[in-house]
Amino acid sequence: MIYTAGEMLAEFVSHEIGCTLQKTTTFSGPYPSGAPAIFIDQVARVGGAAAVIGAVGDDPFGEMLRHRLATDGVDISHLHTSKTLTTGTAFVSYFEDGSRTFVFHMDGTAADDFAAIPTLPQGSTLHISGASLGNPNIRAMIEGMLAQMEGRGTVSYDPNIRPELMRDPSVRQVIDQIITRCDIFLPSDSDIAALYPGQTAETVILDLLEAGKKIVVVKQGANGVLGSDGTAMIRLPALAVHEVDPTGAGDCFCGTLIGLLDQGRPFKEALAAANIAGALHVTRRGPMEWNPTLSDINEHLEIAPA
Ligand code: ATP
Ligand code: MG
Repeated sequence: MIYTAGEMLAEFVSHEIGCTLQKTTTFSGPYPSGAPAIFIDQVARVGGAAAVIGAVGDDPFGEMLRHRLATDGVDISHLHTSKTLTTGTAFVSYFEDGSRTFVFHMDGTAADDFAAIPTLPQGSTLHISGASLGNPNIRAMIEGMLAQMEGRGTVSYDPNIRPELMRDPSVRQVIDQIITRCDIFLPSDSDIAALYPGQTAETVILDLLEAGKKIVVVKQGANGVLGSDGTAMIRLPALAVHEVDPTGAGDCFCGTLIGLLDQGRPFKEALAAANIAGALHVTRRGPMEWNPTLSDINEHLEIAPA
């Protein structure tokens, strides 16, 4: 079973590029979101055994998240519904150059409420999405889960570094701890720039494989992907698409890769499928409105049946 734990959010996306979240304008939403939610939903969409650990409020946003995840096949028995806290929210607006600005409401909402952490069964995979390590409750929860995974199974890590995370020494310490422990490391180009300034993706991949990682993959947006499982170094160009909303592409990519690896697919096939899934993901608005199934992915790729 693949588990992830973290913030469950309702997200609103502005239609107007450059509205900066300071102008009254048109938004789409609520959308089910939060990096861990997008990831685990995609694991289920490609047929993986998926379970989520987190919390939502006893409100319409919470019901939306529960319903979407359950409908897509995620085990939500560890998705707690708080009677007192509301569901966390996020607002996002893009700029002309594709960069974005967010307003998150997580502190003091159900999004960072981790009262009941289950004990994961032997042989589990735990995926950590690192964007919210700046939140003390989420950080403490991740540290606890990491300690629990000692000798218990596979840990995969998508750092999703935000610049402010690197400036906080206590956060940096946890990031280093997760990098040391993880078996599968899935940074993006910008994560590499933040964590290993001046080094190329290829050098970082080779060094980390040498240090004992099983798989290292660097996500490169519209430039595709570079990765290795210790055998060949694989570079795949991206599928040519029109990018509408890039939020969640990395989580969709990781969900596809981990979901297929867990089903016994060879690394090369899982990587190619993830590369297609990430590309499809950016073509529709909403953080997890276009989490493609294996048959959607197969329309762009030949994967031998299991
Ligand atoms: P996130 O914003 O979710 O953190 P990320 O930076 O972790 O994203 P990206 O590199 O943006 O991850 O995207 C993950 C993968 O999705 C890429 O490696 C690529 O395979 C695919 N992808 C992303 N953007 C595009 C694009 N514009 N065109 C084609 N493929 C894309
Ligand atoms: Mg990312």
